[in-house]
Amino acid sequence: MTIQHLINGKAVDSAARFETLNPATQAVLAEVAAGGEAEVNAAVQAAKDAFPAWAGRPATERAAIVRRLGELIAKHVPEIARTETDDTGQTISQTGKQLVPRAADNFSYFAEMCVRVDGHTYPTPTHLNYTLFHPVGVCALISPWNVPFMTATWKVAPCLAFGNTAVLKMSELSPLTAARLGELALEAGVPAGVLNIVHGFGKDAGEPLCAHPDVRAISFTGSTATGNRIVKTAGLKKFSMELGGKSPFVIFDDADLDRALDAAVFMIFSNNGERCTAGSRILVQQSIYADFAQKFAERAKKIVVGDPQDEKTIIGPMISPAHLAKVRSYIELGPKEGATLLCGGLDRPGYAPELPVHVRRGNYVWPTVFADVDNRMKIAQDEIFGPVACLIPFKDEAHAIALANDIAYGLSSYVWTENIGRAHRVAAAIEAGMCFVNSQNVRDLRQPFGGTKASGTGREGGTWSYEVFLEPKNVAVSL
Ligand code: NAD
Repeated sequence: MTIQHLINGKAVDSAARFETLNPATQAVLAEVAAGGEAEVNAAVQAAKDAFPAWAGRPATERAAIVRRLGELIAKHVPEIARTETDDTGQTISQTGKQLVPRAADNFSYFAEMCVRVDGHTYPTPTHLNYTLFHPVGVCALISPWNVPFMTATWKVAPCLAFGNTAVLKMSELSPLTAARLGELALEAGVPAGVLNIVHGFGKDAGEPLCAHPDVRAISFTGSTATGNRIVKTAGLKKFSMELGGKSPFVIFDDADLDRALDAAVFMIFSNNGERCTAGSRILVQQSIYADFAQKFAERAKKIVVGDPQDEKTIIGPMISPAHLAKVRSYIELGPKEGATLLCGGLDRPGYAPELPVHVRRGNYVWPTVFADVDNRMKIAQDEIFGPVACLIPFKDEAHAIALANDIAYGLSSYVWTENIGRAHRVAAAIEAGMCFVNSQNVRDLRQPFGGTKASGTGREGGTWSYEVFLEPKNVAVSL
């Protein structure tokens, strides 16, 4: 199979190609056109040419097309989920039941929303002020390899619904489902040039796309390092930067421990631990720490690691050998820094069932739990982005807040307590874009999604997506 770019409604190849591999089997899934500056320039030009007509269409017409695209995705969930699982190693239970259905919802949601964009009025005795919201123009949408289809649609849906045109660049590690998105967009009636997709590496395709003078806004999801680089090289543009995280999962001794355990396990081990909002620093009050640690490790040992296409699998392979090596390097580092390995680790731990023969060459790592972690250790400070949990004890509320905030990142946070006053105090005190109280991460499309500190700038979701995809203009009329 060959994956080509989608430029101005046509499949376009490149002289150079790269392979995308199945991380469970190492089989070559497809050859992918490796785009560079020429392909980026052609895609941006197509998006620029298509913009006036698309922006000028009544919102109801754009909404109908965007809604149809969501319906087509909903119709093809099993096929898209299988492809996404092959390409990323994310388990089929996640892609089939959560991520691809949510991608379809992104389109139906923003189709509803775009017809409701309204303005504000600020009357004064001398002037009538009112706001107009204009689409921004050509937007660069850049997606990472973890949950790539959902993330891409989270950007494409509001971008198109609000009247912009797009150049989407997927991660070179997970390009397959975007190609399907392009086909379905054409089938749904998205006009040529409104959605363009360029494949390729960050340096070759991502960088010229972000630097292109005709690109007016960048919606980027990826690592903090890349986000910093883009902000420095892209010039003056609108930015939405959804970056890395190392989120605190704070459990007080009055929490409902069984529910907290379930949620803590889910937030670090689901999606293979390759999740930006992972609760990767689990802060536990000292009085319940030993009991919690033992129960948490017991649950971790029962997690099924295996073929991601198997419904029973909870942890599939890491995306790539390079990423596997990174995750393993932190597992090796933990004991050297003084942490206690409760389960998992570098060697076959013995408790996990044997991997099925056909996935034994996969990029696997076992769910790993470190206890006695000091928050200043590298395993506690760095985003490992794999199934590695750090259990950190704390004394009291003030200590919990201090540890939670002693980190460069500020994406998500989790607080578990039955004390309602404390729940609100801690939620307010934690430096993060999101806080979930007595809950795992549950998304509502109206919420502002995004982070603070090194986790990014800007928010997306609901009317928060106006920030990046619409330009407000104030009109002041002298009376
Ligand atoms: P990455 O930064 O390596 O790559 C992300 C994308 O940027 C890819 O498409 C890549 O090709 C492209 N890219 C690389 N260099 C570029 C450049 N110079 N200019 C423009 N584009 C460039 O990230 P990754 O490894 O693919 O993804 C994992 C990271 O993404 C983690 O840090 C994770 O926390 C983060 N993430 C954040 C969120 C969020 O919403 N905050 C969601 C998912 C993932």
